[in-house]
Amino acid sequence: MALPGEGQGLALVPGRECGSCSLCCILPDIAEFDKPANQPCRHCLPGGGCDAYAARPATCRDFYCLWRIDPTLGPEWEPRVSRMMLYAQGAQLTVLVEPAAGAKWRDAPYIDLLEERARTLKAEGGYVVVYAGEDVAVVKG
Ligand code: SF4
Ligand code: SF4
Repeated sequence: MALPGEGQGLALVPGRECGSCSLCCILPDIAEFDKPANQPCRHCLPGGGCDAYAARPATCRDFYCLWRIDPTLGPEWEPRVSRMMLYAQGAQLTVLVEPAAGAKWRDAPYIDLLEERARTLKAEGGYVVVYAGEDVAVVKG
């Protein structure tokens, strides 16, 4: 997939930091540098961070997950807590779940917000899609 440049021109939610989280460097496949899904990028540092930070590609430079951008997502959505990361591309909301977290996204409070977002996006012709290991599901709106 091509991660969206969500970070460009968008305000970040004050007080939220990536810290030791590296989920966006682990869960997505990134075609730009042949990174498969659900495997750490070869530039990931133990404990978080990137050993190629200054020279990281634009895909990485521009990207922030939705938790860093959307103040309506509560603390339970912090990727280190939820074990999933969200990002939006137009009317599509994508959820990438740590494979070891299984179907956690189907539990409250996560499924409640995902269904709410699915209903909203459906009205715009969009949808919510969840990737959890080998499983792919579209959330009913
Ligand atoms: S998934 Fe979100 S919180 Fe985690 S490192 Fe990426 S942008 Fe930061
Ligand atoms: S190059 Fe750096 S920022 Fe980009 S995915 Fe790899 S570790 Fe993450």
